[in-house]
Amino acid sequence: MNTLIKNGTIIGQSGGFEADIFISNGVIAAIGMDLPPAAGFKVIDAQGGLILPGGVDVHTHMDLDLGNFRVADDFYTGTVAAVMGGTTTIVDHLAFGPEGCSLQSQIEHYHTLAYGKAVIDYSFHGMIQHVNEDILKEMEKLVSSGIPSFKIYMTYDNRLQDEEILRVLIKAKNLGAVIAVHAENDGAIRYLRQHYAGAGKKDPVYHALSRPDAAEAEAINRMIYLSEMAGYPHLYFVHVSTKKGLEEIILARKRGAENIYCETCPQYLLLTEEMYRAGDEGCKYIMAPPLRKREDVEALWRGIENGDVDVIATDHCPFLLEEKLQGREDFRMAPGGVAGVEERIELILTEGTRRGIPIQLLVDKLSTRPAEIFGLYPRKGALTVGADADILILQKKKRTISLDNRHSACDYTIYRGFEVEYTVDRVLQRGKLLVEDGRFIGNKGEGAFLKRSIIAAKG
Ligand code: MN
Repeated sequence: MNTLIKNGTIIGQSGGFEADIFISNGVIAAIGMDLPPAAGFKVIDAQGGLILPGGVDVHTHMDLDLGNFRVADDFYTGTVAAVMGGTTTIVDHLAFGPEGCSLQSQIEHYHTLAYGKAVIDYSFHGMIQHVNEDILKEMEKLVSSGIPSFKIYMTYDNRLQDEEILRVLIKAKNLGAVIAVHAENDGAIRYLRQHYAGAGKKDPVYHALSRPDAAEAEAINRMIYLSEMAGYPHLYFVHVSTKKGLEEIILARKRGAENIYCETCPQYLLLTEEMYRAGDEGCKYIMAPPLRKREDVEALWRGIENGDVDVIATDHCPFLLEEKLQGREDFRMAPGGVAGVEERIELILTEGTRRGIPIQLLVDKLSTRPAEIFGLYPRKGALTVGADADILILQKKKRTISLDNRHSACDYTIYRGFEVEYTVDRVLQRGKLLVEDGRFIGNKGEGAFLKRSIIAAKG
């Protein structure tokens, strides 16, 4: 089917411009003024609307199974929430698998979780939770089968030791793969958690106090030097939450470190650790890394404005309120993570433009840059001829976030009461309308697995 989108303002890389978009066979076939509609065309009138490339969220945890807890959203409800918020592609971070499991077995497991459920296109990051020759060989196989990125952890039980990290980084350098890392100093956090809990300090605020900013900054710094020893493979820091952590990245780049990418998330841009002081309610905000201080929030926004932050993703990982409240008596008992996949674009565009940041720069962090880093560009992340017609049409219309207008299966939102100024009106994926007048009209399972390529060198 052919579609013509008329009368909207396209947000391109250098700002907004008026043009029509002609879509044929699911891809953008032409962009220009007054493209003529032909017989049989579907015409979408985007009058007054802003037209953006569909959002690319490269950090979600759909159907994550922690053993004792499982996230509220599976690949159906989670991707419906995503597309209702204007996101048309996710790259999901896998759960840890059974001890000693192969990389391939976890990927296969995730294919069974996503297939027939996801309503938008998806991919997975490989998950490396231990290292040996077999795992390193498997990295080659995954890269050649369209999964050119891998997640590692520096904390939690399945963290890698420095020796293992270096082996993985050297392999990634050879393959051109991206290593995405959760950087926090494990030993310090373990000690501080026990230290506080042992002294009876178990309120939610101790979740934040036991994961200080220095624990993030130290791990980022160590990771960058390990990366230097490996010849600078593509290294991507997920959910950077602190001024100190970001400063390590900025300093490293200044001294010549290459191929370092930085992600942050809406929660670290909009909320502070004060939320943990709201009594039992503080449990709702338990996530790792934790919410930080106002000065961290400001530093991250500056990083967005001046290009130090590459990507805004979500770490979407929602648990039900009842599950979060298990941390009431002891913060260590609450599962970590919150929902955000639906709110990301509307919130960031609202707050970012209020701060005077050009909208095209925000779109870059929400769609283009993540697509580039994770090998989806230019098929995804851009409104250019030949790209998939994954298109978001926004209206400048105020609305207040409440549970009533959310689509995640989670039963609360940390963004309740936030007023957004941009509202998702229509969303197309590969030329097909999935959201119309703010209603989901797609079908379960019509999202496709995306084979990705290694990162394209930027000119
Ligand atoms: Mn995560």
